[in-house]
Amino acid sequence: MITLEQRWRAAGHKSGILWLTGLSGAGKTTLAQGLDQALFERGWRSGVLDGDALRKHFSADLGFSKADRDENVRRVGETAIVMAETGCIAIVALISPYAATRAQVRARAGNLFHEIYLSGTLAVCEGRDPKGLYAKARSGMIANYTGLSDPYEPPEAPELALDTGVMTVGESLGRLLGYAEGVFGLG
Ligand code: ADP
Repeated sequence: MITLEQRWRAAGHKSGILWLTGLSGAGKTTLAQGLDQALFERGWRSGVLDGDALRKHFSADLGFSKADRDENVRRVGETAIVMAETGCIAIVALISPYAATRAQVRARAGNLFHEIYLSGTLAVCEGRDPKGLYAKARSGMIANYTGLSDPYEPPEAPELALDTGVMTVGESLGRLLGYAEGVFGLG
């Protein structure tokens, strides 16, 4: 049986879960991809679990009711735990709107879990509308849209909060990378 410490020594860094939560358009995908690239260039083992991508197959059976969103978060959480327990840094990009559901993942993952709140406001995120979904939701074409017709419960005590409404992508990435180096570096 290989221990986690043995895996960390072999990889040259610790592992865990960086859980990026925030509204649609807050920058989860952008920062997850950027961080993954930066860690890869350092020779670290990482991978992205992106909500939008995972809904195509992994959670193709789920919709956007509270029960389905909770089940999606639970599945992604369990997958991230497996990644972290095998020595990888799992970067999760998922709206994950309910605080209690995120807390359940934290309870399962323990010290491996790091909650990163991308706190861009609704006004900023809707102004960006990178996928045109806020406009569709406003015109009634999408129901249960987080921030408009569905709740988003911000983290009360995240390990890191980044106001992606005022920071540049480069500034946010720098802060994220610094955080990752601090918690996953072997020193
Ligand atoms: P999400 O995955 O949260 O829905 P995206 O990453 O798809 O969000 O889109 C965020 C958009 O905001 C991108 O177009 C990105 O370039 C822009 N942006 C501006 N400033 C930032 C920042 N500080 N962090 C992340 N994204 C930012």
